[in-house]
Amino acid sequence: MKYYNRRSFLNLGSAALLAPWTSGQTIVAKPTVDLPDTAGYRLSCTLFNSRLKPKPAAVKRCLTEDDVMSGILWAREQKKSISIKSGGHCFEGFCMADDSLSLDLSGMNQMSIDPKTQQFTVAAGAKLRQINDFLLAKGRILPAGSCAGVGIGGLTLGGGYGLLARQYGLTCDQLLGLRMIDAQGKVHQIEGDHELLKACRGGGNGNFGVITQFRFRTQKAPTHLYNRRFKANDLTPSKVKLLLETWFAVTKNLPSDAFSAFVLNGKSLTILLTHTKLKSQATISAVMKPLEKIVSSTTRYYAPLYPAAIKTYYGRSGPLPFKNACAGMLQGFAELKDVIETLAQQVAATSGVIWQVNTLGGAIQDQAYAAASVFAHRDCSYMSEIQGYWDDAPREQRVIKAVDEIQTLLAKCGIKRHYCNYPDRNFADPQSSYFGNLDFLQKIKRQYDPEDIFHHPQGVRL
Ligand SMILES: Cc1cc2nc3c(=O)[nH]c(=O)nc-3n(C[C@H](O)[C@H](O)[C@H](O)COP(=O)(O)OP(=O)(O)OC[C@H]3O[C@@H](n4cnc5c(N)ncnc54)[C@H](O)[C@@H]3O)c2cc1C
Repeated sequence: MKYYNRRSFLNLGSAALLAPWTSGQTIVAKPTVDLPDTAGYRLSCTLFNSRLKPKPAAVKRCLTEDDVMSGILWAREQKKSISIKSGGHCFEGFCMADDSLSLDLSGMNQMSIDPKTQQFTVAAGAKLRQINDFLLAKGRILPAGSCAGVGIGGLTLGGGYGLLARQYGLTCDQLLGLRMIDAQGKVHQIEGDHELLKACRGGGNGNFGVITQFRFRTQKAPTHLYNRRFKANDLTPSKVKLLLETWFAVTKNLPSDAFSAFVLNGKSLTILLTHTKLKSQATISAVMKPLEKIVSSTTRYYAPLYPAAIKTYYGRSGPLPFKNACAGMLQGFAELKDVIETLAQQVAATSGVIWQVNTLGGAIQDQAYAAASVFAHRDCSYMSEIQGYWDDAPREQRVIKAVDEIQTLLAKCGIKRHYCNYPDRNFADPQSSYFGNLDFLQKIKRQYDPEDIFHHPQGVRL
């Protein structure tokens, strides 16, 4: 890795809080960072996953693009690589790589909306809760994830799916422009048909530079979220297999405003179903009929107003210990049919382990979105995830071991395509698991960060 000194670090950007869509020039003051054993360092190193104990060499808490540049300059002078934190929700803490300088953007959360175009400009550290509050007050939404504390930075750069992704596409598909500061401190403000923008739609986590700001298209907010739940208890492995096969068979016929998740916890199953259009209700009821016949119970429809409804999916606000990972981007039941009974036994054997499959497909498979992004595995209409939780330290190792065993089982049966926003250190070949267009991503990496200063533990390798 080659480093620059302060004299060579000249091409600098704007100091505005929410930078205008123009580049500017400014001079970086003497860089200051938070070193270990300081309050600022400890504050930044608190990640959502409290299992992780990150040990970056230093932290730079950024409020402006000048702070970002100042941090980059410090890292160059100290010969450190750079990691980037927005919301701090990475499953593996890659936002705070060991011995790196971590640029903490969580204080950069300004936002604005253009009243004419309804385009939304947001700094990279904003959290989904802040974005929902801001946009819903104006009757708009940005299709994104469910959990309130997730940062728009990491979510967008890796893809971003949620209840509305089948209707409108991924969060990265709504991206119209961004501002990025590269390893030389150069500001790139890009929009339109730009290769860097394409690379950042699904391949941008910590790879090319520091994205400080995004511009998105927004959508009219739905009025209601229509919900239904299906439950089945005391399940045997063969019953799980039947339910899963039926769930895959029916969900492929759902209209694109609908989302469903198959959530196996112990010997109990909950199937979530949501949709946003009242007129879809009759179709969806007919589609779900075969499943309704084999579950233990089905709730009646409930349809809270959309702003209240999404809060019920916000999850916990504070840190908690867990071990979660992608368990495969999937095309259908065939990939799981030989392992599902063993998997069901493993989930039932360890309390705290949850295995879930979510619907993708719909607008995510739009050809125009696919052509304008590097988000991998769009042909997969489903994504599976494995989750492990514990309340007390003694159970931690047991839950992690059970999660590892399920991952090994799935890998052995050839499930190797994964969502880069659900990363795991155990994946044998993360580049081919996460990235769809590696040659292109390597080209972009060479262009913007040839020295690999933004070294991501599972990032694009040159
Ligand atoms: C509780 C929980 C719920 C989740 N729910 C969903 C969901 O519903 N849908 C979904 O799609 N995903 C979901 N995720 C996964 C989530 O999308 C990823 O963890 C995402 O990367 C988090 O972004 P962040 O900014 O909060 O995280 P961070 O940990 O800050 O960053 C994540 C990664 O992105 C990089 N990065 C962050 N900001 C920048 C930036 N400004 N410039 C360049 N690189 C950057 C980091 O280096 C790191 O590699 C969930 C995760 C958790 C823990």
